[in-house]
Amino acid sequence: MTQFDLALPDEAATLKLGADLANACHGATVIHLYGDLGAGKTTFSRGFLQARGHKGNVKSPTYTLVEPYQLDPMAVYHFDLYRLADPEELEFMGIRDYFTEDAICLVEWPQQGAGVLPEPDLELTLTYQPQGRLATIKAVSEAGNRLLQLLQEQG
Ligand code: ADP
Ligand code: MG
Repeated sequence: MTQFDLALPDEAATLKLGADLANACHGATVIHLYGDLGAGKTTFSRGFLQARGHKGNVKSPTYTLVEPYQLDPMAVYHFDLYRLADPEELEFMGIRDYFTEDAICLVEWPQQGAGVLPEPDLELTLTYQPQGRLATIKAVSEAGNRLLQLLQEQG
């Protein structure tokens, strides 16, 4: 499986990574976003959502757990599970209605939903650097692998 690191010197680089991945997504995709508070998970999601046609701001759905974006040709669901008390809460919110064959799911704090959350295609980890952030992108499914290959070809 493909894995690579990418230096993100500033916020614009995080937004661009989000946009580049968004443009490489051609089918249902699940991306898990790891990283400390302030690492850039929501910034990445904003770049991703805006590249898929969302106009306007994006904030972490910390209290509502999920923010739906009905975009063309595919909905994007942005999760922030930071305040999820128990993974079983995901069953009550009808998690299966989001992880469908015609949706993209971006999930901040996926470790909070361990055991209930569906397996991802990609895992993105953002870590603090003296200057900016480091992105580590790992494919964990065949679809994720193809996506990263496409991303690398796009340059
Ligand atoms: P998270 O969702 O991981 O808690 P946010 O995206 O809300 O983080 O906040 C990240 C903060 O770091 C924002 O203030 C953003 O401008 C900044 N930021 C994002 N990417 C970078 C980067 N590559 N280098 C420096 N600052 C960044
Ligand atoms: Mg966030």
